[in-house]
Amino acid sequence: MPTTTETTILRGGEWLIQTSDAEVVFTPERTTDEHRLIARTTQDFVDNEVLPNLDRLEEKDWALARDLVKRGGDLGLLGVDVPEAYGGVGLDKVTSLVVSEKMARSASFGATFGAQANLTVVPIVLFGTEAQKQKYLPGLLSGDIVGAYGLSESGSGSDALGARTRATRQPDGSFLLNGEKMWITNGGFADLFVVFAKVDGDQFTALLVERGYGVKSGKEEHKMGLHGSSTTALIFQDVKVPAENVLGEVGKGHKVAFNVLNFARFKLGAMCGGGAQGAIAESAKYAATRRQFGQPIASFGAIKHKLGEMVVRTYAIESLLYRTAGLVDARIAATPHEATDGSAALAAFEEYAVEASIAKVAGSEALNYVLDENIQIHGGNGYVRDYPAERHYRDARVNRIFEGTNEINRLLIPGMLIRRALKGDLPLIPAAKALQDELLGPPSMPAAGDDEGVLTDERRAVDAFKKVALMVFGLAMQTYGQKLTDEQEVLMHLADITIEVYSAESATLRAQAAARGKTARAALQADAARVYVNDAAMRIDASARQALAAMVDGDSLRTMLAALRRVLKVTPVNTVAARRRLADETVEREGYPFGT
Ligand SMILES: Cc1cc2nc3c(=O)[nH]c(=O)nc-3n(C[C@H](O)[C@H](O)[C@H](O)COP(=O)(O)OP(=O)(O)OC[C@H]3O[C@@H](n4cnc5c(N)ncnc54)[C@H](O)[C@@H]3O)c2cc1C
Repeated sequence: MPTTTETTILRGGEWLIQTSDAEVVFTPERTTDEHRLIARTTQDFVDNEVLPNLDRLEEKDWALARDLVKRGGDLGLLGVDVPEAYGGVGLDKVTSLVVSEKMARSASFGATFGAQANLTVVPIVLFGTEAQKQKYLPGLLSGDIVGAYGLSESGSGSDALGARTRATRQPDGSFLLNGEKMWITNGGFADLFVVFAKVDGDQFTALLVERGYGVKSGKEEHKMGLHGSSTTALIFQDVKVPAENVLGEVGKGHKVAFNVLNFARFKLGAMCGGGAQGAIAESAKYAATRRQFGQPIASFGAIKHKLGEMVVRTYAIESLLYRTAGLVDARIAATPHEATDGSAALAAFEEYAVEASIAKVAGSEALNYVLDENIQIHGGNGYVRDYPAERHYRDARVNRIFEGTNEINRLLIPGMLIRRALKGDLPLIPAAKALQDELLGPPSMPAAGDDEGVLTDERRAVDAFKKVALMVFGLAMQTYGQKLTDEQEVLMHLADITIEVYSAESATLRAQAAARGKTARAALQADAARVYVNDAAMRIDASARQALAAMVDGDSLRTMLAALRRVLKVTPVNTVAARRRLADETVEREGYPFGT
C-alpha cells in the first residue's frame, strides 16, 4: 500500500487503501499551548460555573441557562469557529474539538451550548449573507441571543427531507410559515431558530426565524436524561418571515442541513470522548476508595479489566478525533481562501464526512460502554442519585439517537465511500481488484509495515484489517451492484469493519508517534493500542464472516473464509497484563492517563 508523506493530506476515506506515517498524524500530544489554555479555560468554566448549578438547570431555570450561555460568550467559547471579522476568535478545528471535549463534563449544558455554537452559529457562518452575519452573529457570540435548530418533526426525524412544515411565498417576497417541529434543543427559551421548511410545496429551504415573528414553544418534554436542557416542540401559525431571512438558497436547504450535521457529528463525537474521560476519573476514584473483602475494589482483576478497557476504548476515540481534526485543519490551510470565507471549512467537512460519522457512532457507543461500566464499578451507589454515574448514563443515551441515529450514520459510512469509489474519487475498486489478484496468487511475504520495531505487529494487523474491508466491500459491490442499498445488514457490517479500521489505525499511529517522540507514558499508549488492535481483529472477523455468509455459500463461501483466515492472522497479545497496567496507572493518577 502507498504511504502518505508529510506533504500529502489524505482525502476522506483514503486511509482505507493507504498506509499513513505516524509522523503526519495529528495527536493530542501535538496540541499547542494555546489549545491547552483553551482546554483549561473551558474546563474551569464547566467545573466552577456549570456543575455547581446543575440542580438548578435540572429544575429548568432557563434564566440561569441563558446566563451561562453568556458566560461562555464572554470567554470566547461561542466564537471559536467564527472569523475575527464577525467578532469570533477564528481558531482551528482542533480548538473546536478541545472545547467540545471539555464541555462534555455537563451533558445538559453541553446540549444547550452545542445548539447555540454548532447548530445556529455555524450555519450562519457557513451559509449566511453578509447582512445576516452582521445582524445575528454579534448577539449569538455574546450570548445575548440564544439559538436553536429546527429540523425534526413528529413524522420526519431520520427522513429529514420529508418535513411537512410549509413556507408559502407572499407577493412581497416574504414567507408565511406553518407547521410544527419536534424535540428542539433550547426550544423553550431560544430567540432565533434555523428552521427547515418546504417553500411552495417542495423546495426544502432553511430560514432564519426570530421568536418575535410569532414562534410558539410547546411544553417541555419529559425526557430520560438531559433534564438540564430545554427540549420542546415549535409551533408556527402564519409566522411571517422576511424574504431576506432565507439561509443559503431556496430549494437548497439540504445543503445547509447535511453540511451542518457533518461538523456537528464530529463535535458530538468529541463530547462523547470528553464525557468518557470524565467518567473514567469517577470510576478510578471510587475503585480506589471503595473497600470490599478488606481491600480496595481497584485491586480486583475484574475491576482492573473494566478500567483498562474503558481507557482503551476512550484512547481509540480520542486518537481518531484528533487525527480527523488535524486532517480538516490541514485541508482548510491548504485551500486558498479569505479569512471571512467559510467555503474552505465547508469543503473540508464535506471531504471528511465519513470520518465525522465514524466519530459520532464510535464516540457515542464507546461512551455508552464506559458509562455502563462506571455504574457497575459503583455497584448499588451507581444506581442511586447520590452519585453522578446514573445521571451520566441517562444523559448519554440520546447521543446514539440525535445528529442522525447511529443506524443512519452506519448506512452513510459505506454509502459515501462507495459513491466516491463509483465517481472515481476514491480508488476503492482498483484496490479491491488488486487484493483479489493477490489472494489468488501464491502467499506473499508479510508487508514490511513500519521499520521502527514499535508496534510493528499492530501496523501489520491494521494492514490486514484494510484488506478484509476491501474484500467485503469488493464482494458486496460485485454481488449487489446498485441494489446494495437494500442490503442494510451487510452495510452495517461494512460500517463496523470500517470504523474498526479507522479506530485501530488512529490508535496505533498515535502510540507509535508517542514511542518515537519518547512521550511520557508512551509504553502505556502502546498497551492501549495493542489491546484495541487485538480485540478489533476479533470483532472484524465476526463482522466479515457474517457479511460473507450473507453473500455467498458453498465452495465460494469456503474460498472466501479461507482467504479471510489467511489475511487476518493476528497473534493474540497478553491483554490481561496490558489492561492491568492501564488500570493501575488510571487509579494512581485518579483519571484517564492520556489526553490534553
Ligand atoms: C433530547 C433530544 C434533543 C433533540 N434536539 C434536536 C434539535 O435540536 N433539532 C432537531 O431538529 N432535532 C432534534 N432532535 C431530534 C432527533 O434529531 C431525532 O430524534 C432523530 O433524528 C431521530 O429521528 P426520530 O426520532 O424520528 O426516529 P426515526 O427516524 O423514527 O427512527 C426510529 C428508528 O428507526 C431507524 N431508522 C429510521 N430510518 C431508517 C432507515 N432508513 N434505515 C434503517 N433504520 C432507520 C432509526 O435509526 C431508529 O432506530 C432531538 C431529539 C432528542 C431526543
